[in-house]
Amino acid sequence: MAIILTSLNYKGGVGKTKNTTLNAYEVAKKGYKCLVVDLDPQSNATTVLIRTKQAHDPDNVFSFEKTLMTAVREESLENLAVPIIENLDLLPSYIDFANYSTFLDKRFGVVEEGDPDYHEITKQKITYFNQLLTPLKEQYDYIFIDCPPALNLLTVNAMSAADSVLVPMQCEYFALEGLTALVDTISKLAAVVNPQLKIEGVLRTMFDHRNRLSNEVSEQLKQYFGEKVYRTIIPRNVRLAEAPSHGTPVMYYDKSSLGSKAYLGLAGELLRREEQQQKAEAS
Ligand code: ATP
Ligand code: MG
Repeated sequence: MAIILTSLNYKGGVGKTKNTTLNAYEVAKKGYKCLVVDLDPQSNATTVLIRTKQAHDPDNVFSFEKTLMTAVREESLENLAVPIIENLDLLPSYIDFANYSTFLDKRFGVVEEGDPDYHEITKQKITYFNQLLTPLKEQYDYIFIDCPPALNLLTVNAMSAADSVLVPMQCEYFALEGLTALVDTISKLAAVVNPQLKIEGVLRTMFDHRNRLSNEVSEQLKQYFGEKVYRTIIPRNVRLAEAPSHGTPVMYYDKSSLGSKAYLGLAGELLRREEQQQKAEAS
């Protein structure tokens, strides 16, 4: 049964997609069967992974047969997964996934707080994606869900399907602000629909050691989240920023770059944490 992680922060541009795609890539390389679900209508994870597929197999001419939105409308995610590299599949998204909330309104109806069936209908809308994903969970060891930078039905659907949330964040002014809302939503969802949901870890991204503010925010994060803060720090690294425009994940582009090494380290830390957690749960 897959362990499901979602990379989430309501702030934009903090490294969610980079984290989802490179983590999945590294974990797949270590031999675990992985699936990336692109729940973001911006479809950045889809673009990066399709380029990765093409870089890996240049003779393969790829065209979408269907996208996540089509599959959701058909109420089945079967036959949607696109193989990227060995052990790594993708559920591809497209801009039409922005219609997901409207689809749920049509499917379940529009309700307002105070309506007698408000809680029941809301619950059905929140858990809908998890229901669709359930038949795929047996096929993978890890499922990584990439989310848009928003607090909306899409991100709440991701959280109700997930075992845990990985929060990438830049150590900058205002960085901590959206976190309270995120922590709050996680505890509400845990209480109502998904008791096992927790924060998997907080990842410091695009970090610049020379910047005093970054170091201060990093300290605040450690005080607030303690052991949840990953030891691995992802540096701001030009190779990580450049890699997608070369049509490659950073590993193909520059294996020896600090960014590449940091993501390799992160995948190791993530797997170690998961193993420790499973051992603790089993004992
Ligand atoms: P959005 O909220 O729009 O979905 P995001 O949180 O998914 O954004 P990314 O797309 O992963 O963020 O990263 C934002 C930009 O920063 C991208 O251009 C990416 O290539 C670049 N980037 C990500 N991580 C790093 C890094 N460690 N060093 C340098 N550039 C980075
Ligand atoms: Mg993104």
